[in-house]
Amino acid sequence: MTEQDIRTKLVHAGERRGLPDAQPVATPIYASATFTYDSMAEMDRVFSGEKQGFVYTRYGNPTTAALEEAVRAVEEGAVACAYATGMAAVHAALLACDLRSGSTVLASQDVYGATTNLLNTILINFGVKTVHVDFSDLETVRAKARELRPQVMIAETISNPLLKVCDIEACVQIAHENGARLIVDNTFASPYLRQPLKLGADLVVHSATKYLSGHADAMGGVVVSRDEMDKGALVSVMKLVGGVLGVWEAHEIMRGLKTLGLRIERQCTNAQRLAAELVEHNLVGRVYYPDSADKAARLLRQPFLCALVSIELQENTRAAAFSFMNSLKLCVRSTSLGDVFTSVLHPATASHRDLLPARRRELGISDGLIRISVGIEDVEDVLADIEQALKVAHKVE
Ligand code: PLP
Repeated sequence: MTEQDIRTKLVHAGERRGLPDAQPVATPIYASATFTYDSMAEMDRVFSGEKQGFVYTRYGNPTTAALEEAVRAVEEGAVACAYATGMAAVHAALLACDLRSGSTVLASQDVYGATTNLLNTILINFGVKTVHVDFSDLETVRAKARELRPQVMIAETISNPLLKVCDIEACVQIAHENGARLIVDNTFASPYLRQPLKLGADLVVHSATKYLSGHADAMGGVVVSRDEMDKGALVSVMKLVGGVLGVWEAHEIMRGLKTLGLRIERQCTNAQRLAAELVEHNLVGRVYYPDSADKAARLLRQPFLCALVSIELQENTRAAAFSFMNSLKLCVRSTSLGDVFTSVLHPATASHRDLLPARRRELGISDGLIRISVGIEDVEDVLADIEQALKVAHKVE
């Protein structure tokens, strides 16, 4: 080939040099929208699925595929597919269950607010009806499943913000007796504390933005199915709806995943200490934390249980909660959870803001409720911060 012009070199120089013999020890970020092959015949074989490979990043990418494989392995499923956010993953899981006009979804009343809104404001327009019930009342769940014969049941392993633990085994039985598939959003537990597929759930969903990533620097979502047959539907949603996970985020989440066990163990140990101190505190009215004696909670990894604690102050009002949260100097006011730092959220004005006050009261979410996602800091520092903020909120010297 003759010497190329600089304008050509600027475009092609250094690219597509092939992999060196050495294997990178960590999956690189494959920041490439498309992939080329030596011949059209080979490309055709990859397109047809006859040969494994990547052609276009909306259809799959090596960095994202590495994360999918990691999450599939730790959830012990058959297939996993990653999406741009947890909500994109919830949406994909619902669509993978072949929802269509006339289908019914039986949803836990405690599912994440955006999941409720997705069902009640978007999927409803496509003829999908959703009925919400209290999944801690298994008799009602069973009766409703028999009456409605839902296509899908959806619950969360640990509910937000009251931290109720779902009896997944019982829900699996009810779902399967009535011809439904069970989707479990495992965001709050993470696969380290619970693996719902091993208890018989059909699909697991994660907001990878939370514990899987753990550092508040990436958004993502993953669906894992126990059934290889779901692969087609999950990949179709990714390809056709297009909410693919970016390769940078896939890399960040993959890096976070490596320390999930260490982080969660520390976060849960800190959370238990916090719960134990706050339950005795005269400026705290109520503490919500899973009860290790509870049948469903026993299925969470012992002795760790849960890395979140929710509290109501002695003065259980929005004003006192705001004053407490404003006074925190270490704990971060943040609309998320599962990060390495301790963060606080006010459900009534954040996750459950869209609900009418009466509905919030029905669900047990008072205006003074505060959710604490406990981090990996030294717990004494977190306790000291909470102690001083409790005093400010209650005007104690
Ligand atoms: N599921 C649960 C339980 C969540 O808490 C969230 C977000 O807070 C989501 C799903 C949605 O995740 P994302 O914000 O990554 O879309």
